Amino acid sequence: MKESRQSERTAHDAPKQGKAPGKSGEYTVDEMRRFLEEMSGKYDLARVVDPIECRILDFQNDGRIGMKERCYGIWNAEQKCVNCSSALACRTGCHQEKAERFQDEVYFIQSNPVSLKLADGSVFDAVVELVNIEKDSTREANDREAENIGGRAAGYLAQHDSLTNVLNAEAFYELGRTRIQNSPERAWVMVTGNIMNFRLVNNLFGVARGNEVLVRTAAMLREISENARGLCGRLGGDQFAMLLPGSRFREENLLDTARSLGEVFNSGLFTFCIHFGVYRVEDPAIPVSVMCGRANSALRTIREDLTRTIAVFDDEILKRDLQEQKVIGGFEEALQGGQFRMYLQPLARKDGTVIGAEALARWCLPDGTVMPPGDFIETLENAGLIQRLDMHIWELAVKQLRAWKGTGLEKLSISVNMSAKDFYSIDVYEVLTGLVDRYGVDSRMLRLEITETALLVDPEKSDAVVSKLRNRGFLVEIDDFGKGFSSLSLLKNIRADVLKIDMGFLREIRDDERSRIILRSVICLAEALGMDVITEGVETEQQLKALSEMGCSHFQGYYFSKPIPAEEFERKYHE
Ligand code: C2E
Ligand code: MG
Ligand code: MG
Repeated sequence: MKESRQSERTAHDAPKQGKAPGKSGEYTVDEMRRFLEEMSGKYDLARVVDPIECRILDFQNDGRIGMKERCYGIWNAEQKCVNCSSALACRTGCHQEKAERFQDEVYFIQSNPVSLKLADGSVFDAVVELVNIEKDSTREANDREAENIGGRAAGYLAQHDSLTNVLNAEAFYELGRTRIQNSPERAWVMVTGNIMNFRLVNNLFGVARGNEVLVRTAAMLREISENARGLCGRLGGDQFAMLLPGSRFREENLLDTARSLGEVFNSGLFTFCIHFGVYRVEDPAIPVSVMCGRANSALRTIREDLTRTIAVFDDEILKRDLQEQKVIGGFEEALQGGQFRMYLQPLARKDGTVIGAEALARWCLPDGTVMPPGDFIETLENAGLIQRLDMHIWELAVKQLRAWKGTGLEKLSISVNMSAKDFYSIDVYEVLTGLVDRYGVDSRMLRLEITETALLVDPEKSDAVVSKLRNRGFLVEIDDFGKGFSSLSLLKNIRADVLKIDMGFLREIRDDERSRIILRSVICLAEALGMDVITEGVETEQQLKALSEMGCSHFQGYYFSKPIPAEEFERKYHE
């Protein structure tokens, strides 16, 4: 068995010796004998056949040729193989490749047409066959292997996903580990696949249709894996994984599959989109589940993107993963240890009078570094931890308002941020009213910033919660207007008190006149709807002047101050 050699080769070995493969290549019997000797060191079988007679040619020392046994006999077949690649090579004059499966073996046959120049001057058209035999690692063999994982004879059902018939997660991990252990020198590729918005399929068309999507997807991925002699598994839900030998991994196959599935399942209501994450295994010693995790990390980078199908794991993603692990792993201790602190950024009038502040979280690490929210908020959201941080910051803000009571800062409000996830994991209303009651703070002094995107996740539910909060006296601000979709229907449906326009998006517009027109219109619109406007991200006096002229009266931005620790904020305010 010369398994590793087969995988090394992608191009075919045609008879060389200065001659091109194909009909034009003429070989004397001696040349051909030498060529076969050379190839027999590289292939399990190297032979010349007469594809018309289906017989192997015998080269004798005296330069004559004879006919030996039937060429298809090698895979114990009774008769010629269907679509014989050598016959095809002979007919077309072109190199052909084919795999013949027999019992536990797969025969990979390359057929190269050659012309043999015999001693008597005549020419004999034949085909050089180069054959590699590998243990059949595809369906039946996979199944047998799976049934016998770890010698436990676990049985087909226990190892296969009952819906899709591909390996289940456990079997995939274990079989994958065995495969890699058996050939660690091979380049392996881990691919994970995930259907975008799969939940929608179930919701829109029912579970039966959802199952059909999973079954079809699994079947196509299974075919890819089998053709590449790899493994295919369903890790759960709409998550699939394939472990493929690197030499047989082709991105085109994934793209073709995505396209075909799209053709089957696209409808007016639903755009089918499957994403693949690819991890080229660098360290064969890491657990297969971790390899899947890395492929998934790559996949996540394009999860919402309809225009991309494949993402490959790289150093950038690895760095992000490590950062995520650091955040999730260190969160609990940091929260208990008071490492999450509230910074305040003033909210001011044009003349610099401070009228309030926004509370912004900072992770102050024991080594003195301060981690900005951009490095941890999203991770905490994805990990389902954000509500714990938010409740902590809300409490710090309410405590601060309480501390300001009876001082010169009594009139200042504090705005706190909310994540879309908060609405689904906690009773925001209960928590906030609980806090203001406990600390005896006027709810009007605590303002709630909800991003436009968060409100859009479920506008109906958002509107209900927002109304309830406003009735209780909290002021609600729509945060980051202009950063996301900036939907007009959002303004129509959700009654809020303040619209916070993010200037960030305007910085990207080169054309000052256009920026001015957009801003002026949004300010007018908000005022007509009875909302106050705050412009965020004001950095220069020039911007401040222009915004004031457009009718904006409240501002937040580096021009006035960056977010600073609460104590520093108090000191500055007094100054
Ligand atoms: P945000 O709520 O829109 O907060 C304003 C962000 O703009 C802050 O970034 C602030 O530092 C930045 N900023 C303010 N003025 C300027 C300026 O003039 N120029 C520029 N370039 N930027 C300015 P920060 O503190 O990094 O916070 C980023 C985001 O993280 C916040 O955006 C908010 O969405 C989120 N966030 C912060 N703290 C929390 C929190 O406690 N809970 C939740 N859920 N999200 C938070
Ligand atoms: Mg905010
Ligand atoms: Mg904002």
